[in-house]
Amino acid sequence: MAKNIDHLKELLGVVSDLGSANALLGWDQQTYMPPGGAGARAMQLATLSRLAHDKFISEELGETLELAKAEAAGMDPDSDEFCLVRKTDRDYQKEVKVPSEWVGEFSRVTALAHQDWEKARSESNFFLFEPRLEKIVDLRRQYANFFPPYDHVYDPLLDDFEPGMKAADVKSVFATLRPRLIALVQAIAERGKPVDDAPLHQSFDEKKQWDFGIDVAKAFGYDFNRGRQDKAVHPFTTGFGTGDIRITTRFDPEFLNTALFGTMHEAGHAMYEQGVDPKLDRTPLGTGTSLGVHESQSRMWENLVGRSKGFWSAYFPRLQEYFPDQLGETDLNAFYRMINKVERSLIRVEADEATYDLHIMLRFELEVSLMDGSLAVKDLPEAWDKKFEEFLGITPPNDAEGVLQDVHWSNGYIGYFPTYALGNLVAAQLWNKINVDIPDIDTKIAKAEFGDLLAWLQENIHRHGSKYEPLDLLKRATGQSLDAEPYLQYLEHKFGEIYEL
Ligand code: ZN
Repeated sequence: MAKNIDHLKELLGVVSDLGSANALLGWDQQTYMPPGGAGARAMQLATLSRLAHDKFISEELGETLELAKAEAAGMDPDSDEFCLVRKTDRDYQKEVKVPSEWVGEFSRVTALAHQDWEKARSESNFFLFEPRLEKIVDLRRQYANFFPPYDHVYDPLLDDFEPGMKAADVKSVFATLRPRLIALVQAIAERGKPVDDAPLHQSFDEKKQWDFGIDVAKAFGYDFNRGRQDKAVHPFTTGFGTGDIRITTRFDPEFLNTALFGTMHEAGHAMYEQGVDPKLDRTPLGTGTSLGVHESQSRMWENLVGRSKGFWSAYFPRLQEYFPDQLGETDLNAFYRMINKVERSLIRVEADEATYDLHIMLRFELEVSLMDGSLAVKDLPEAWDKKFEEFLGITPPNDAEGVLQDVHWSNGYIGYFPTYALGNLVAAQLWNKINVDIPDIDTKIAKAEFGDLLAWLQENIHRHGSKYEPLDLLKRATGQSLDAEPYLQYLEHKFGEIYEL
């Protein structure tokens, strides 16, 4: 009946298969590939990426898309077909404007930049990375200029990670967040009842950490018949269709939090992907709608569930059974305070909930200045340290623990960081609505019953895949626009209680 849409689906299926093959090679690269495979693997990945790009912007796909648009015109705007055509059109109109030469050059420069960044970070010397970053900033500015007109040069970059979102939206949200977060962190430092988390810093057997993490992920609802966990240096989630969504984690033998909360976080990402309607497989709709919404899922399971008192009232006795020597003498309330310790620290990925977004905001401000040209790459380390002092009240002792700590810029991911903070806000907004729809959610969590929560998320978020843009999806799920208030209230309430402010 809809023969052009069906034809379009066939063509998109091929692009999706190439993408999945690429992702599987990427998963292997970060889990099991011996170091000697790196050179050949880079070529294999580049070849598959280029093939997928070429297939996607091919004349045949472009023509079929035009016919499919005509066919979709009268359809229900909520139907899978209508949403598929709209999303494909949006992606196509973007990708077709990017010349293949730019794609090749960007992939080449970022591959080299990644190596230089690793070296620069290990020697804690920004200037070893500077020339590559100059080139990356330059290429990202060129990229933005493929999409005139824009309000801000940052907008086209952000749009790749958070469709429909603009720099001005992020600025306005951050302007609300910033003063209250700074005030909260300051109050904790000055007046808070101190938290001693020494029991978390002991020797914890890796096998037991692994087993406990798997128990929790299974209880949450991560389906191991359609998933698995492996070890990786930098934890991530990846998938190749809704039937095969994999997570990775890493272990610190001397610190309990790393693997524990890492596994909860990645399981949150994975359950989102496992919850996408399988009918959307092999299409651009068959995955989470944005990084921000993805992060709302991972951080909800990690923090709103995994760092709650209710969760640990069910799970702390089990954790004590795993680690009687380390935690047998600790009580639930002390443990709850430990895993929620707030600290002005240097490293984003280790930051607690109260300080986390401050790390994001300073990166966003620096990225915007780099892109609009008001900050030169050579002045970045100094600007970083100054902003760090301003936001977190401490000065990084060196580049490795400062401006060089994150991998994102070496990958060319300028415009990515804000999505982490947006995820926190979205998680809190969803949580408020969940509390209305499931009034006894806290009691359920305290009984280790997570089925209703997962079902709510599947119904309102997961199953839609990429059918709706993030802000539209949020509106459909909560009736609201993006709002920092619920997240701020959550933090102020939670940490006010923990620190007896
Ligand atoms: Zn994440």
